[in-house]
Amino acid sequence: MASVLSAKHYHNEDAAFAYVERHVWPNGPTCPHCGGVERISKMEGKATRKGLHKCYQCRKQFTVRQGTIFESSHVPLHIWLQAIFFVAGSKKGISSHQLARTLGLTVKTAWFMSHRIREAMRSGQLAPFGGEGSVVEVDETFIGMRKGAVRTHAAWHKMPVLALVHRESGQARSFVVDKATREFIMPIVQANVDRETYIMTDESRIYTGVHFKFLGHGTVNHHAGEYGRGRIHTNTVEGYFSIFKRGMKGVYQWCAEKHLHRYLAEYDFRYNNRAALGCNDTDRADALLRGIVGKRLTYKACV
Ligand SMILES: [Zn+2]
Repeated sequence: MASVLSAKHYHNEDAAFAYVERHVWPNGPTCPHCGGVERISKMEGKATRKGLHKCYQCRKQFTVRQGTIFESSHVPLHIWLQAIFFVAGSKKGISSHQLARTLGLTVKTAWFMSHRIREAMRSGQLAPFGGEGSVVEVDETFIGMRKGAVRTHAAWHKMPVLALVHRESGQARSFVVDKATREFIMPIVQANVDRETYIMTDESRIYTGVHFKFLGHGTVNHHAGEYGRGRIHTNTVEGYFSIFKRGMKGVYQWCAEKHLHRYLAEYDFRYNNRAALGCNDTDRADALLRGIVGKRLTYKACV
């Protein structure tokens, strides 16, 4: 079996452009300036920038990088594809230091790339999931985060994170919440879960009365040493948190609080495109590539 990384688009810049174009423009090139799809020509010639196209409707030029996470980056596209492969493929995530060493980049460059890749993993507003008598497990946890730039004891604090996992489809959604209280958590649950769903939680008072809003509510009493009675358990969402926590501890221990939502997006993405759901590493990297459009980050420094 050949190495996945021996595929041409991981080494050759022309092949990388062709690969990205196939994913970003499945129906042919689209002008990022005017949205036009007709009268677009590829610019040829030795001195021409790679992948350059011209739109004859607005007379502007563009490449497939424009309007994506690759915009205003000087890193070759085939290196970007390698980075995407590593981030999408490592179960617990990959640190910027590791990525820098593996790809021969500076840590700063690898850091910007990782954040852009995380942005591509972020899904927009999603329709509520669950429904038809299926089960969504809901749980909250605290992640120790660095507040500000200084690594002092006082600068650490715990950030509450909420996760919802739809048991039947195995899909997860997680959120940074201001406070682990009913006031902050219930609106998120109601906006993300179909009313015709059974909700499973622990016995936290956050969820008291949740059965009025949904089909039903099962609770697990952890203190009594009761880890689930048949259908009533929260093992799935706890499993999600354990992957997330191991990764955050081992790989992203110095992650700043303001980036936590991006790390959550990363873990949601990998969890929702995991091997157990029939998704291999290449599928996952391709799914990520479909999310790069419109995700340009506006950090002042460019890679
Ligand atoms: Zn145009």
